[in-house]
Amino acid sequence: MYPDFPPELNGDQEAYLLTNLKDWSIAHGLAVRPTPSYVPSETDPSGALATTAPVTLFPSLFPRVCFEQAKSVVEAYNELYSAIASDETWLGEVIEELIEIDDFMANLWKVHLQVKKEGYAHTMNLGLFRSDYMVHVDLLGPQPLVKQVEFNTIASSFGGLSSQVSSLHKHLLSVGAYPESLSDILSSESLPPSTSVPGLARGMAKAHEAYGKSSNGLQLCVIFLVQDLERNVFDQRHLEYALNESHGVRTFRLPFGTVLQDTKVDTDRKLIYTPPHTPNKQYEVSLVYLRAGYAPSEYASQEAWDARLQLERSAAIKCPSVLLQLAGTKKVQQVLATPHSPHLKRFLPDEKQADAVLKTFAPIYPMDKSEAGQEARKLATDPTTAERYVMKPQREGGGNNVYRKAIPELLKTLPETQWPAYILMEMIEPPAQSNVIFRNGESQKGGVICELGMYGACLWRQGQEDGEREVLENFEAGYLMRTKGDSSEEGGVAAGFGAVDSVCLV
Ligand code: ADP
Ligand code: MG
Ligand code: MG
Repeated sequence: MYPDFPPELNGDQEAYLLTNLKDWSIAHGLAVRPTPSYVPSETDPSGALATTAPVTLFPSLFPRVCFEQAKSVVEAYNELYSAIASDETWLGEVIEELIEIDDFMANLWKVHLQVKKEGYAHTMNLGLFRSDYMVHVDLLGPQPLVKQVEFNTIASSFGGLSSQVSSLHKHLLSVGAYPESLSDILSSESLPPSTSVPGLARGMAKAHEAYGKSSNGLQLCVIFLVQDLERNVFDQRHLEYALNESHGVRTFRLPFGTVLQDTKVDTDRKLIYTPPHTPNKQYEVSLVYLRAGYAPSEYASQEAWDARLQLERSAAIKCPSVLLQLAGTKKVQQVLATPHSPHLKRFLPDEKQADAVLKTFAPIYPMDKSEAGQEARKLATDPTTAERYVMKPQREGGGNNVYRKAIPELLKTLPETQWPAYILMEMIEPPAQSNVIFRNGESQKGGVICELGMYGACLWRQGQEDGEREVLENFEAGYLMRTKGDSSEEGGVAAGFGAVDSVCLV
């Protein structure tokens, strides 16, 4: 696209850029806790140190039409996934096949069934979604399009840091850290701010408001449910601080491992939280925002499942509920995106919306014994065709997928009964690009792959009947650009392969 991007910097230019980048990042909380290998715990026994988050030195070039396309479907996607999560019968049929072979899916479904038996204590639902895309160049089409990598309904991260990194790149531009040669493409007009911090915080504030007043006269609070060991705390803190400062909402961080200890469900099924530092003061929880609970490794004991059940059966709004978490599985994405699937129209009766969403789908196939599944099995077991595919299990958080030639290799050892636990997706092959990634104090220049995430917020009230709902809020909530080296198949920033980035629209 632009062969001289990113430009070569001389020593002085690079030093100036990096000094500005490092100082601005720490001054504005564009930071993470260091990895133990980078700062051993002997060096930092009280865990006080932080380091700059992995970032790109330059905003990555991104086609404006693609950015607008991704933005234009946010509300339709909010509508779609809120509708899916509200249709327990449909979702149950999709999940059914997985339950027999995937314990994690089975246990989540069990939590739902247990609460259903007793009757759900809440009707309000909050989705803070992130739909991820890559640019797909269609050689026959008039312009590039975005294709969806996946849709996240739980713990969609980096909304906190994304606003910061778009500001960082703007700052570097304003202090003259980028060379003159970029002035044709880099301008404040080509760098859209990411509004993910105010956007996601507004979503949570709307849910908090919709919860209503405490019937016990307790102060209300929002719980950030977090993993016990979390390096990406500042990403979450930015959202908390925005909730505190812009909306006057009290927030607490609650490690998943201490749910049973620090919360209880009262006779009206209100979720009551007692902070360990003020054992005499209780709060009623309006909203539980999950940044934990999406990986099987977090449910090593029955207590963890009991904790999840406790939250689910409470009257607090969950972001997400178990049903919404299940709606975000790769299986649901596959059912919608399998060529000629009738399901999209069922949930998005508005034809224009459905067509716009359909355009973002890359072909995805089941790995079961259906007709489409048989086709996929052929593609996946032949190394020459498997080369164009990625195979995904029903997992989140990065590091779980099987790529290209590794697919037939894995299938050779995996019993056929397990195959339906996966879906097979065509690889999106974005155009070649370069950037410089700054991570752990080192700059690395080279070919990169960029993934654009669009955040959306949706608040709805579940109706009496299955599939019935009333949408109260539906809005776009900023964007995330993530960039990884092109030799790495995975793109997770937290998993250690990528960097947070922003877009320069071209
Ligand atoms: P997770 O829920 O674990 O994040 P993803 O579906 O996002 O799973 O896959 C992880 C990463 O794998 C993505 O960030 C992307 O870099 C890569 N990836 C996944 N699907 C595709 C695809 N169809 N084409 C190209 N890369 C993909
Ligand atoms: Mg992903
Ligand atoms: Mg995901």
